[in-house]
Amino acid sequence: MSDHRFAVVIVAGGRGTRAKLARPKQYAPVGGMPLLRRTILAFANHPDVGQIQVVIGDTDLDLYHDATAGITGLLPPVTGGKNRQASVKAGLQALLADPPSHVLIHDGARPFVSEATISAVMAALSSAEGAIAALPVADTLKRANAASGIEETVPRDRLWRAQTPQGFRFETILEAHRKSPDGSATDDASMLEALGIHVALVPDDPENFKLTYGEDFVLAEKLLAGAMETRTGLGIDVHAFEPGDAVTLCGLHIPHTHKLKGHSDADVALHAIADAIYGAIGDGDIGEHFPPSDDKWRGAPSSVFVEHARDRLIARGGSLTHVDLTLVCEAPKIGPHRETMREAVAEMLKVQQSRIAIKATTSEGLGFTGRREGILAQAVATVQLPA
Ligand code: MG
Repeated sequence: MSDHRFAVVIVAGGRGTRAKLARPKQYAPVGGMPLLRRTILAFANHPDVGQIQVVIGDTDLDLYHDATAGITGLLPPVTGGKNRQASVKAGLQALLADPPSHVLIHDGARPFVSEATISAVMAALSSAEGAIAALPVADTLKRANAASGIEETVPRDRLWRAQTPQGFRFETILEAHRKSPDGSATDDASMLEALGIHVALVPDDPENFKLTYGEDFVLAEKLLAGAMETRTGLGIDVHAFEPGDAVTLCGLHIPHTHKLKGHSDADVALHAIADAIYGAIGDGDIGEHFPPSDDKWRGAPSSVFVEHARDRLIARGGSLTHVDLTLVCEAPKIGPHRETMREAVAEMLKVQQSRIAIKATTSEGLGFTGRREGILAQAVATVQLPA
């Protein structure tokens, strides 16, 4: 599978009127995040997905930009056609600029697709031209009409519900779309079936459902409530004093008898906060993301590091619950600046000030902080992450 290059086309061009929401359903919030953003992140966070091509409605560009803020590496969105089939075709044609070997096609309104399902569809493409995620039918099926009621029980034996992603060799599905009469297909696999090409089935899980009606959004909220886990991270940093007249702490310029020595602005407080967030999401540390050997960060404001950590958290579908920072030094006095510092950090992290705690203590004259040789900062970050 290693020689395969996978792209994904995410179809989000519909109006979603059946959900009866104020805006197209793919931009409605689920668990505090636009539905489409959640779907895109499922693929952006998969290690084997390369290009991500989203197909949107012709009046949705602003909504799309809001919904995808901070997600890097997406191809520019393309506008969909008059039905799903035409929208998929538009997405496939956009990929011709740099054709992948294989493409997954996914409904924008299925945000709960698992990494395992995406991987299983990819793996099935080693031995098939097409492969789709599907669920065996569990309920007894009746054919009925509104007037006379049940006409017959339909055997559910060998019946499956087609879901997405549906994966294909790129050339094969593009050719099938070119040959198919416009608008007749409700999924992509049926086009290969019509050409007599074998399509493999990959058993999916029921959580990968398509949000169609208002009640689906209620169900999605219930699912998400149990799907987040709490994590904490610890960040510790030390910077030494050197001759100067002010220190930078939490982005604030505080007059002092010395300055802090360091490659960036030496904001020991923000360094501890950034490392605490990296720690909570298991994403290395500040030195890995911003190597001191790189001259680009000389004198940089440390808010850059905190904002980077925040964006990495958000990109994982997480959110920040709380930051608790402790500064250890004999001087300068932190108390008079505490509220301004909280405000500044809250602004960087885009959370309410009530989620930021800043404390200060001395070490009673003991150790390097007691000898006034530098400042020690410790931060604990608490975050919510998809389990
Ligand atoms: Mg540092």
